[in-house]
Amino acid sequence: MAIVGCGATGSALAGLLARAGVGTLRIIDRDYVEPSNLQRQSLFDEKDAAESLPKAIAAAHKIAAFNSGIVIEPKVEDLVPANIESLLEGMSLILDGTDNFETRYLINDYAVEHSVPWVYSAAVGSYAVTLNIVPGETACLACIFPDSPRGMVETCETSGILNSAVNLVASVAATEALKFLVDGFSNLRRTLLSFDVWTNEHAEVSAANPRPGCRACGERDFVHLAGEGRPHITMCGRNSVQIHERQRPIDFAEMDRRLQPHGAVRHNDFVLKFWHDPYEMTLFPDGRAIIKGTTDTAVARSLYARYVGS
Ligand SMILES: [Zn+2]
Repeated sequence: MAIVGCGATGSALAGLLARAGVGTLRIIDRDYVEPSNLQRQSLFDEKDAAESLPKAIAAAHKIAAFNSGIVIEPKVEDLVPANIESLLEGMSLILDGTDNFETRYLINDYAVEHSVPWVYSAAVGSYAVTLNIVPGETACLACIFPDSPRGMVETCETSGILNSAVNLVASVAATEALKFLVDGFSNLRRTLLSFDVWTNEHAEVSAANPRPGCRACGERDFVHLAGEGRPHITMCGRNSVQIHERQRPIDFAEMDRRLQPHGAVRHNDFVLKFWHDPYEMTLFPDGRAIIKGTTDTAVARSLYARYVGS
């Protein structure tokens, strides 16, 4: 099975499922570990943050240390329309560890088109929500939320996140994944389940049937799957911009030498970091970059063009 996004929820899902002994876990994440993650991202430690290890790699190391019998396939990539087919190929179940609706709608389109079940999970503040989607049987994400739900557009930056809400939603979702492994679809919960662990408000809404006329599972109009490549993405809560480059493999040793006259630079096998006041650029081997210190895509793009290439 695949876990898309290995932040708070993804870490908790991966930890639970790996300790439970699932055979293969493909962990897809675009980001690297930072000290501010450690409050809620249970697979990582201060050493991972000091090394800026990609989360998928750090997760693979951690899991191998407690269950070497699991096959972990770490993928340091941002799931986008251009790579979703190859990244999710062969997966029988997809678990949501993402932090945004754009990626969730993309997963939903893929899952509905290929009839792969998936589990939506989200936690913001003290609120946790989850839904199992069995294409062709239950409602899909677009049946329930034709547009991004308002309450959930708050990001982890604006509202913070309670680690116990994360663990709650991950526990429920991981249990559904285990049910799926043991006896397929039959015992999966068919409701949208939500909980606020602080106020104790909770709700369960039936999702047993698709909504007639749903864009995704009714009309099979997969707009997100057909989406254009997204060259710039402002990331969740980090005053940073991501730049996508798919065709620019980077030689870290050479890039390290080239950047040295312009600021502090260091690299390991997985990331290269470059500090050019007030910006911090993290470069991945495929040319993707996360530029911290701005939310202006034009600033990020020009920094990238100047130091990496246009
Ligand atoms: Zn639907």
